Amino acid sequence: AVPVVAVVGRPNVGKSTLVNRILGRREAVVQDVPGVTRDRVFYDADWNGRKFVLVDTGGWAPDAAGMAARITEQAELAVATADAVLFVVDATVGTTDDDEAVVRVLRRSKKPVLLAANKVDDIRAEAEAASMWNLGLGEPHSVSALHGRGSGDLLDAVLKLL
Ligand code: GDP
Ligand code: MG
Repeated sequence: AVPVVAVVGRPNVGKSTLVNRILGRREAVVQDVPGVTRDRVFYDADWNGRKFVLVDTGGWAPDAAGMAARITEQAELAVATADAVLFVVDATVGTTDDDEAVVRVLRRSKKPVLLAANKVDDIRAEAEAASMWNLGLGEPHSVSALHGRGSGDLLDAVLKLL
């Protein structure tokens, strides 16, 4: 079967932008306001001739009260059906409680996880990406989904998990 890679993380970290970058086309819905994508969207992807299914997650109407619970629920759903997980955080914001909620789900799942520190648009943001080591998920792979910086190396690392 074709392996499944789920892209998870709290809203607005750039999951859909990263999915578009990986697909090499504009398809996943990206908006400044989170909540536009459907809960989970599956895409056929390939990298260097390897086929995999990429799952974009997390489009729901944000409501402050239930946010952490929704993020957790989304991550659980996506991770359950995945062979590997691409966990996206926003290096320009740093680690948040919502990120930590996702980390707990990932630990429980015991699935292989790759940590993507997104929005590292230039070298100055590398220090912030390095601070993501504190999540305890190993090396943060810095990437700029928007500009493509680091995305090839990130994909190489993701495929090594499969
Ligand atoms: P999602 O909610 O996690 O799917 O996030 P989106 O992909 O919808 O992106 C949320 C916002 O972050 C949008 O305004 C994107 O343009 C922006 N964004 C995504 N990736 C990057 C990046 O690498 N650098 C910068 N500067 N902005 C980004
Ligand atoms: Mg999205």
